[in-house]
Amino acid sequence: MVLNVVEVPYKCPIAPLEFVFMADWFFTVSGVRDKVEIEFVTPLDNVFTKPVAAKALAQVAVQKKIKVTPYFDLAQVNAKEKTIESHKGQTIGYDLLVAIPPNMGDHVLIDSEVSDPIGFVATNNATLQAEKFDRVYVIGDTTNVPTSKAGSVAHYMAYTLYSPEQLQQIGDGLVRLTGVLHKLVAPEALDLLDKAADLPASADVAGAKPVGLFRLIGALSDPKLKAGMGVALELTRGLAALREP
Ligand SMILES: Cc1cc2nc3c(=O)[nH]c(=O)nc-3n(C[C@H](O)[C@H](O)[C@H](O)COP(=O)(O)OP(=O)(O)OC[C@H]3O[C@@H](n4cnc5c(N)ncnc54)[C@H](O)[C@@H]3O)c2cc1C
Repeated sequence: MVLNVVEVPYKCPIAPLEFVFMADWFFTVSGVRDKVEIEFVTPLDNVFTKPVAAKALAQVAVQKKIKVTPYFDLAQVNAKEKTIESHKGQTIGYDLLVAIPPNMGDHVLIDSEVSDPIGFVATNNATLQAEKFDRVYVIGDTTNVPTSKAGSVAHYMAYTLYSPEQLQQIGDGLVRLTGVLHKLVAPEALDLLDKAADLPASADVAGAKPVGLFRLIGALSDPKLKAGMGVALELTRGLAALREP
């Protein structure tokens, strides 16, 4: 089995190595490990991006009898011959190829020209402000800052824009907002909102005249107004709940 990281950057620098370590475990517990060769083929100089961890992880790969082939710059996959070939002409055979494809940003960013042609948004390294847009800040995989494409990186980038307390508040707020949204999409709430949304079109708000006590008494002979007052009183009763903690 050959795992090939095709290009950098790719999502989560450790994930391909996790994959071959898990494959080693799977073939071991399946009792066929001695019949399977595992090869880790990467364009990098080692199994991981950070030197200290890379040294330790390379030793684990040796212990697990996983062959590591660095500096492999993929040129093509020859599916018929079951080989991968580098730009330097190096060829590696496989029975099963697991390839990590080139990482790109989303097409919506490319099409809208918010990003560069491969989908990464030009971002200031220090402020995370988008280079081309004053009021846009960018975090996560979509930036072009020279960091790993990792969830932990996106997490810590957020601290550049907000304090931990603010992030906690935003997170808690989003959870509460989800609860509110859940209530708002209940059929009764939607029916009420739907009818309320018709009001501006049916009421002559601009032509409404001031109403004193006598006019109000006179107007109450109108059955619709009477019914409306009933609804208003019922809604007013509900408003009392706003005072409750
Ligand atoms: C196999 C694997 C293992 C990984 N393991 C780890 C790990 O152990 N630790 C770690 O830190 N990182 C890990 N990562 C990397 C991590 O998942 C990413 O770096 C992280 O999710 C990036 O977060 P993000 O919010 O920038 O982008 P994403 O998580 O990709 O979020 C982008 C969101 O935008 C949505 N979207 C896309 N286009 C549109 C559109 N047009 N309209 C609306 N929404 C849209 C997508 O559906 C997606 O939900 C791993 C990645 C992979 C693939």
